[in-house]
Amino acid sequence: MKQQSSSDWIARSLRSVWHPCTQMQHHEEVPLIAVSHGKGAWLYDHEGRRYLDGISSWWVNLFGHANPRINAALKDQLDKLEHAMLAGFTHEPVIELSEQLAALTGHALGHAFYASDGASAVEIAMKMSFHTWRNAGYPDKQEFVCLQGSYHGETIGALAVTDVPLFKDAYGPLLRAAHVVASPDARNASEGESSQDVARRALQDVEKLFEERGNKIAAIIVEPLVQCATGMAMYDPLYLELLRELCDRHHVHLIADEIAVGCGRTGTFFACEQAAIWPDFLCLSKGISGGYLPLSLVLTTDEIYQAFYSEDITRGFLHSHSYTGNPLACRAALATLQIFRDDDVLNRNRELATKMTVALAPLAEHERTQQFRQRGMIFAFDAIEPDPAKASSFARRFFTAAVEKELLLRPIGRTVYMMPPYVLDDEEIELLAVRTRAVFESVIGA
Ligand SMILES: *Cc1c(COP(=O)(O)O)cnc(C)c1O
Repeated sequence: MKQQSSSDWIARSLRSVWHPCTQMQHHEEVPLIAVSHGKGAWLYDHEGRRYLDGISSWWVNLFGHANPRINAALKDQLDKLEHAMLAGFTHEPVIELSEQLAALTGHALGHAFYASDGASAVEIAMKMSFHTWRNAGYPDKQEFVCLQGSYHGETIGALAVTDVPLFKDAYGPLLRAAHVVASPDARNASEGESSQDVARRALQDVEKLFEERGNKIAAIIVEPLVQCATGMAMYDPLYLELLRELCDRHHVHLIADEIAVGCGRTGTFFACEQAAIWPDFLCLSKGISGGYLPLSLVLTTDEIYQAFYSEDITRGFLHSHSYTGNPLACRAALATLQIFRDDDVLNRNRELATKMTVALAPLAEHERTQQFRQRGMIFAFDAIEPDPAKASSFARRFFTAAVEKELLLRPIGRTVYMMPPYVLDDEEIELLAVRTRAVFESVIGA
């Protein structure tokens, strides 16, 4: 059989596949890349061109593409059980994964409810919060609070607590309005203000709202430490610590959406650990399956679990997805957690992050960048582009220039960021840093 070239695959894709988060017309200019295979931090196309996956394929991949250990676990699982429904049935992978996740929270969050996509986990946390209050005799607690610039997914419920106008505005009429409070984004610091001062100032907004309407509010949802989709906005852990207190005082649930920041991205396994708090609901997805299979879940407390435990069926959480707790996805997650233990990943990542920061110093100090920031394995800076016309096309021009230099990077607005898999070697770190600088300078015209 004749081998198809990249351009054949691309033409066929553009005819039949509707690609996500894309104005398809832009592909008249921006190249579509047909991936043939992956290995480690690299993706390869059909002509053998390679791309260093600097953003972990939308933040999901942790230990490289085609990871031998995760592959082996999945092959083993495939011959045992591909899927069984999780109502009335259970299986080894989902039990072990739930136990291990509970242990990672010190059993503060001892119950795991499963879905497939991140947005579904957010919907589950929202429904569970509302239903917990309803079961407890507070059916009026129906409102939700999110942060300025928040991102929690694209389904109708998750989009309602998302504050990214580009994704949200078109669907405004369909959404149930949420309260939007100030972001603790450390970039909001005014002269002489520390990131902790910004956190305290942002919390005043929450406190005022809780005082006025706490009895109507079910939950506040936050992305702990880093608001990724809005442009890697980073903030001080103090915000989470004080928010936990406010939620307790006003009887409002705290939902931690760790879909992007969980699984070691911020330096600890869960971002919440850096504030020494646990939320009432913790959403996990993306990295938990190592970037292999769609898997999401909500961890919650015994107390909330007990609020549903009853002889009355309607007090139960009657939510499901067809692939809830899929054994293959759970097995990929177990292999991922095994790698964390075997390779002492969190400690090793500290060294990796230091090397990255050193390699990126010339960009951090560049006269056309500002606000270089880093937390764990997330690195970002903002381009200075005074010309609004050029600024609006910056991300797309950067992506295209990066691809030509074998890099997969997708800036958000003027924010260039890196969120690489945890497997970069010294050479790859250097290549990523040096070429990103070259791409940056060519795009900015410096
Ligand atoms: C990606 C993301 C989601 C949505 O997850 P999907 O799997 O894309 O539905 C929700 N919250 C955060 C913080 C995310 O980064």
